Amino acid sequence: MTLRILVVGAGIAGLAVARALRLAGFRPDVVEEAPATTSPTAGIYLPGNASRALRQLGLDVPLRPLGDLIFRQVFLDSRGRELFELDVAGLWAGVGESRALSRADLQQVMLTAVGGEVRYDTAARDLEIFDRTVKVEFDDGSVAEYDLVIGADGRRSTIRAKAGLGGPATPTGQIVYRSVVSGGPPLSDWTALLGRRSSFVAMPMGGRRLYCYADETAPEAPSPADPRAHLRELFGSFGGPVPAILDAVETVSVARTDEVVLKSWSRGPVLLVGDAAHATGPTLAQGAAMSLEDAVVLGEELRAAAGDIRVALRAYEARRRPRCGAVRDRTRERDRTRDVPPALRDPMLRRRGLRIFADHYRVLVPPL
Ligand SMILES: Cc1cc2nc3c(=O)[nH]c(=O)nc-3n(C[C@H](O)[C@H](O)[C@H](O)COP(=O)(O)OP(=O)(O)OC[C@H]3O[C@@H](n4cnc5c(N)ncnc54)[C@H](O)[C@@H]3O)c2cc1C
Repeated sequence: MTLRILVVGAGIAGLAVARALRLAGFRPDVVEEAPATTSPTAGIYLPGNASRALRQLGLDVPLRPLGDLIFRQVFLDSRGRELFELDVAGLWAGVGESRALSRADLQQVMLTAVGGEVRYDTAARDLEIFDRTVKVEFDDGSVAEYDLVIGADGRRSTIRAKAGLGGPATPTGQIVYRSVVSGGPPLSDWTALLGRRSSFVAMPMGGRRLYCYADETAPEAPSPADPRAHLRELFGSFGGPVPAILDAVETVSVARTDEVVLKSWSRGPVLLVGDAAHATGPTLAQGAAMSLEDAVVLGEELRAAAGDIRVALRAYEARRRPRCGAVRDRTRERDRTRDVPPALRDPMLRRRGLRIFADHYRVLVPPL
């Protein structure tokens, strides 16, 4: 079974798909427009279902020494008083560990898993789609033909646009500030402080560092000129561990988040995976998990269809849509609670937060 397969993008989705395809007996080409030296600086939180998918990709062993395991998610009000706590270990029991780690470390594990075979500094620029093949033009002017092209090129996907599968991503209106902090206060749990249209999350990520993730809903606001000062302005009045963390913050990166919702994820032999197909706001921290699950399912379906790409892509989409749709709907639901004034929301969360938030994840507990 020698299918010529191209994976566009070597982020989490692209590397996971390349790994899954190799396990299924294929040898895809992988291109990445960024240089090989680019390394993500943030942390990442991987809930239990992400660990399960990594295990299915045979990557649980290299991951084990990395980062910190998370056993509880603690939700506090903006002054640092407890609203409720989620027993993460119990929720994902039998599924997988929940872990926070450096994105660069995760990326390295995944790159090693594909034998480092990525063509960097190479962007897919255009597609010509035929009945059973796709011609791809790269930015160096070269052209190659494939039986299957997988767009794992993120929320601003070129492949999505060139295949006519969808337009630009829709901004969620959230601005996210991320920082990796050394020398902050000791913290053993994933901890969130909820404000009005803003939240501050911190978690241990190994090496005595904290991964901090703060957001605000500010659709029209320009990105701040001094993100560190802005973070202080936004969260300076918060309680709990926040003041000590803010004192230790050195650099802050700023991102806006988007949503991608498409009617179809494929056109002929072109398929979208990961954020290119179904990006959501990051509130549930399910983006990487969904990408990893995409990879596992795609590998299984391509193998099961014995090379019949149409059959495989249909089966893939039928299996993946319900879970990705559930994540999108629950992310939106969670984000709506941000608009409720804390005087109303916080008493409700004290009473029912545990049940509501645990339910958000429960749908992801059953096997793929
Ligand atoms: C602020 C923020 C925080 C997040 N936190 C979490 C978290 O804690 N946990 C979690 O699970 N998820 C989180 N996510 C989501 C998660 O990062 C993504 O869902 C996940 O990384 C999958 O991304 P991807 O590989 O599909 O796309 P990307 O990571 O965007 O990768 C796409 C790759 O394709 C390359 N590329 C683009 N165009 C081309 C082209 N034409 N040719 C070649 N290469 C191309 C890009 O350079 C890039 O390397 C977060 C997202 C954001 C924005």
